[in-house]
Amino acid sequence: MEHIADQLRFTPRAIETPGHQQTIDYIKSAMAKTAAEVVKTQNFAFKSDDGRVLRLTNVIARFQPQNPRRVIVATHYDSIIHAYRDANNPKAPMPGANNSASGVAVLLETARVLSLLPKAEVGIDMIFFDGEEGPRALGAGDPMWRALGSPHFAANLKEYYPDRKPEKAVVFDMVCDKDLALMPEPMSLRSAPAEVKKFWSIGQSIAPQAFLTKPTAYPISDDHTALAQVGIPSFLVIDFDYEPHFNTTQDTLDKCSADSLQAVGRTLLKYLLTP
Ligand SMILES: [Zn+2]
Repeated sequence: MEHIADQLRFTPRAIETPGHQQTIDYIKSAMAKTAAEVVKTQNFAFKSDDGRVLRLTNVIARFQPQNPRRVIVATHYDSIIHAYRDANNPKAPMPGANNSASGVAVLLETARVLSLLPKAEVGIDMIFFDGEEGPRALGAGDPMWRALGSPHFAANLKEYYPDRKPEKAVVFDMVCDKDLALMPEPMSLRSAPAEVKKFWSIGQSIAPQAFLTKPTAYPISDDHTALAQVGIPSFLVIDFDYEPHFNTTQDTLDKCSADSLQAVGRTLLKYLLTP
């Protein structure tokens, strides 16, 4: 919850805002305190349709970098530029406690706890993707939306995995809702059926009310999409049902709960440490 509160102080955290760089610095300094041996940034430029050149940064933290077996744990840290779905104030800065600070919080806390435990059998790469909300930083509010950071990472996979692809990837987004209900996502079920099954079965043993078996009725595009497209079994953990707060000024810390974050974090930890 503190990691979410901290990020909210940098709002807006959309690409091309000062809060965006502050969020990068915050993630890097939190990861520097963990057992991650390497914390790198992958910097790149993206030219948008309207001619702007956006400077983007994925942050990558590697545990046991010498371990040839790699697992990706990812989220996005960029946020929507303004609360476009807000009925009263659509131009107001977007707080984004759930979308996007919650995923970052789960990764940072998991990194801290992993550092206190015996080493996992696999090397873990925590990736904080940039540009998930698209070149206009409006996410689903932009008809031309597309993720930027994860496709760049996927297209340059050899930079980080010269010999062998990562075994799997799990992506978190919108995971702090008080009324947490995580449903398997159809594209994830196609890309990584056994991993979804394993994650949900651990989740159900930890927080049965938060892990539902019925998949969402529609596919959800997120950072797992680009990873799945380059052949990494990848799945998304999201509670996409966040009405009436989704992408409004009401996406604030009071809508989040420590219990929900704990349910997700403990499931992730057990997932990573269970062979
Ligand atoms: Zn998101």
